[in-house]
Amino acid sequence: MPAPFRPLDRDAFAAALMAFVWDRRIWRVDMHHTFHPSHADYDGEPCIARMCKFHVVDRGFDDIAQHVSIAPDGTIWTGRDWNKTPASVGGVLNQGAFMFEAIGNFDAGADRLEGEQLASVVMVIRAVQRRFRLPPEALLFHRDVPVTAKTCPGTSVDKAQILSRVARLQLPEVTPLAQVMRRAVPAARAGDAGGLHMRSGL
Ligand SMILES: [Zn+2]
Repeated sequence: MPAPFRPLDRDAFAAALMAFVWDRRIWRVDMHHTFHPSHADYDGEPCIARMCKFHVVDRGFDDIAQHVSIAPDGTIWTGRDWNKTPASVGGVLNQGAFMFEAIGNFDAGADRLEGEQLASVVMVIRAVQRRFRLPPEALLFHRDVPVTAKTCPGTSVDKAQILSRVARLQLPEVTPLAQVMRRAVPAARAGDAGGLHMRSGL
C-alpha cells in the first residue's frame, strides 16, 4: 500500500490484514526500530513521508522499506505494498517476510518501547502470524541476522519478553486461511496452488 500512507488503529489493521488479497505467502515477521527518527522526531504522516523519501532517494529502494511503521502513540501507518518483498534484513532473506519498523530509538537509555506502541507491536506480530498460521517464534529481530552488527530493534527490547506477550495475546476468531486463499487463487492458476486445491480431487 504505497503513498498516501494511511493511519490505522489496531482494529483497522486487523481488518485490513484479513481483507487484503495476498499473492505471496508470509513465513516470518521482521521487527526493526527506526533508530532515527526517534520518538522526539515523530510528527505523524510527514515522518513516514520523510522515511520513504530517504529510502527511495538516498538508499535507492523502489519504495519505503517496511510494510508498516508503528508510531509512539500506537498508530499503525501503512507503507510498502504488502505483496511486495520488503527491504528488511538483506538479500534472499527478505523473501516471505512481513516487515515493520517501530518508530524510535530503543537502545538502552534512549526511547522506551511501552504502552500503546508496545501493544500495537505485539498485535501486529500476532495478527500477521495468525493470518498465515505461524507460531510466535516466526519473528526475526534484525540483530538475529549473523551478518549484521546492528542492535536493531534496540538493546532495551528483550526478545523473550516480546515472544511471551505475542504468545499470550488473544485475538478474535477470523476466517480460516485456507478459505481466503481459495477465493484469492484465480481459477486458471488453481493447478499451481499446491495443497490449496485438494478439494478438486475429491
Ligand atoms: Zn533494523
